[in-house]
Amino acid sequence: MATAVLAAKRSKDPCTKVGACIVNDERRIVSVGYNGMPIGCSDKDFPWTKGSSNPLENKKFYVCHAEVNAILNKNCSDVKNCTMYVGLFPCNECAKVIIQSGIKTIIYMSDKHAHKNKTIAAKKMFDATGVIYRKYTPKNEKIIIDFTSIDKNEVEQTHEKSSVSTKNPNIHIQIFCCIYVNSSFSSFSRHLRN
Ligand SMILES: [Zn+2]
Repeated sequence: MATAVLAAKRSKDPCTKVGACIVNDERRIVSVGYNGMPIGCSDKDFPWTKGSSNPLENKKFYVCHAEVNAILNKNCSDVKNCTMYVGLFPCNECAKVIIQSGIKTIIYMSDKHAHKNKTIAAKKMFDATGVIYRKYTPKNEKIIIDFTSIDKNEVEQTHEKSSVSTKNPNIHIQIFCCIYVNSSFSSFSRHLRN
């Protein structure tokens, strides 16, 4: 889920940034995506608003949701029986693509649109097709990504050798996070460059 949340940071959407991460049955990341305009549709030329009286000036007609982008970005032949981690419960349009792709489990962070028809319809389709969905329970409320932590660690190691105690209780979380991000970087890097 942390990778999905990190991917969401790439979204240009000023209102709702959503990320999705797909893992296979060996728990390996096979794709990452976030909500964005189709390739070639400039963020400057297409709208990110949703309050315009002109439907063509609203983002709704143009934005690719994170779930669809993640499925299309996969680095394997298919995503059958995979699990998708996603920030927001999928809408009905994404639900159709998820079902057709063969993804069997959805783990979501927020269900804040549960009252809306698009979410009710999505759940109706998931229930009918046996796609399991459940809310994610984070072990940590926050994970801090400190790009300089690797250098800090070297300093700490030096200090430890000289018996100077500067131990930071968060350092293990930071190191874990860096390793985790790096391990998924190969499948993520193509998207980052876009
Ligand atoms: Zn959607």
